[in-house]
Amino acid sequence: MDSERSSDSTDFIRIMIEQDVQEGKHGGVVHTRFPPEPNGHLHIGHAKSICLNFGVAKEQQGLCNLRFDDTNPSKENVEYVTSIQEDVTWLGFDWGDRLFHASDYFERLYLLAVKLIQDGKAYVDSVSADEIRANRGTLTEPGIASSHRSRSIEENLDLFARMRAGEFEDGAHVLRAKIDMASPNMNFRDPTFYRIRRLPHYRAGSSWNIYPTYDFAHPLSDSFEGITHSLCTLEFQDHRPLYEWLLHACEVDCHSQQIEFARLNLSYTVMSKRKLLQLVEEGHVAGWDDPRLPTIKGLRRRGYTPESIRSFCEGIGVAKRDGMIEMGKLEHAIREDLNVRANRVMAVLRPLKVIIDNYPEGQVEDMNAVNNPGNPDAGSRTVPFSREVYIEQDDFQENPPKKFFRMTPGQEVRLRYAYIVRCENVVKDEQTGEIIEVHCTYDPETRKGLPQAGRKVKGTIHWVSAAHALQADVRLYASLFTQADPIDDKGGDDFRACLNPESLQTLTMCQVEPSLVDSRTGTQYQFERQGYFCVDPDSSSDKLVFNRTVALRDSWGKFEKK
Ligand code: ATP
Ligand code: MG
Repeated sequence: MDSERSSDSTDFIRIMIEQDVQEGKHGGVVHTRFPPEPNGHLHIGHAKSICLNFGVAKEQQGLCNLRFDDTNPSKENVEYVTSIQEDVTWLGFDWGDRLFHASDYFERLYLLAVKLIQDGKAYVDSVSADEIRANRGTLTEPGIASSHRSRSIEENLDLFARMRAGEFEDGAHVLRAKIDMASPNMNFRDPTFYRIRRLPHYRAGSSWNIYPTYDFAHPLSDSFEGITHSLCTLEFQDHRPLYEWLLHACEVDCHSQQIEFARLNLSYTVMSKRKLLQLVEEGHVAGWDDPRLPTIKGLRRRGYTPESIRSFCEGIGVAKRDGMIEMGKLEHAIREDLNVRANRVMAVLRPLKVIIDNYPEGQVEDMNAVNNPGNPDAGSRTVPFSREVYIEQDDFQENPPKKFFRMTPGQEVRLRYAYIVRCENVVKDEQTGEIIEVHCTYDPETRKGLPQAGRKVKGTIHWVSAAHALQADVRLYASLFTQADPIDDKGGDDFRACLNPESLQTLTMCQVEPSLVDSRTGTQYQFERQGYFCVDPDSSSDKLVFNRTVALRDSWGKFEKK
């Protein structure tokens, strides 16, 4: 991987882990895991966790596992499992032969639950989830113990076995830890470890009728895999004492250290899988890979590179407190990457026809154009020039404001890589008054290599030859939401209320230079003066389709360049 961290860029997690290694904790070994639940596609927040887990392991010559935390059969499926693996790989990480599933541990987990019952540390409760919640107490008041808390070990073992066997309805019983109903930490008030769910599991089939909770399955899965540092997001901070309690109670060999860090929140988007699913299912976006979504698949289709996402994740660092990262930072990362990577080409998004009256009819000249001025290795190409070209509508004004250096009657302007031309007159639609053609003359001495080539004019504009251009659709994106924090919507708590109706604009009359003819899906370009674009999978030999990844300059205002 080309983006190794420099040794001086560090964070509290890396400092803690480095210290553990120095002190020889866990034999000086570092072993992490990335534990997605296969109930949705990965997003940029997951990328932060992936970069952190795989990153610290690599820096410490350790290992990182990919573990599917698949303990809830109702929302999980194999489509997500496949997609998550694809995305982790695409981001540039490799779990080697360490692909695991919490569902592989169901039998081991069950046996440990039985052991907890035998040790008097767990019991079967037979009240509803609502009642359990109601009796949990508050931060100032202790919880109320369930009448089933004092069940005998034999009765608990019998009930638990029958829960497993499928004798009871969903919700009839749960297995709870027996810890302390008066603990100031709510997570210690007899947390639930198993629930009845008589649902088939996408992997384990119909062999289970009970499924472990996160609080039970996660710490033990970490320990089974020899995880030394279990990195998770801040909402699990209050669960850490329970994590440790469980590892002690189960007397497992490996005690991993849970360390919490702040979730990534990005402005003008949402990151929860539930909300993303809603956007997709209700048709607010075209699918999981819609380029407006912060999903890895969406970002990829939008034209983001793995390098840019890794560099973004590295740049934002790892903090102990939640915050909101500006979308401009993500865009900055892709701009920096594409600046080096993307070849420059000419594309006219909103065409206006220009006819060069003194240019010989039927003549075509191949103009030499450099592919990337910042990268000599990128080489050059030729672009055909002829009597009729398209320019951007914006680049012509009949009655220009002051300091308008582009095309306007009587003023000279350079056509990039070609001649200096001067607008002589315009043709308008008789009905609408709209300008439909601009007529120019050119100075034949001003082409590169000719005597007047160096003659200075104030403006240079891009163009494409009308006879040679390829038609294209171009999709321009704006933010999906009109508010930086769609969750804080003032008009109610429906985050969809501030969806931006103009988040997608499709331009269907675009004209691009002929060198793009065989562009493959995903290829990135800089359309001169317009931004970075990539070829969308909808593109075909009949019609090219491009997505604008990002404009050339930051338009978020607040964001400041590093
Ligand atoms: P959701 O609550 O939306 O379902 P999740 O956090 O439960 O998301 P998981 O699949 O359990 O999703 O996440 C896998 C890992 O990615 C976890 O370790 C989780 O903490 C981490 N993660 C998820 N979202 C973010 C985020 N926004 N920023 C950083 N890490 C995240
Ligand atoms: Mg989760």
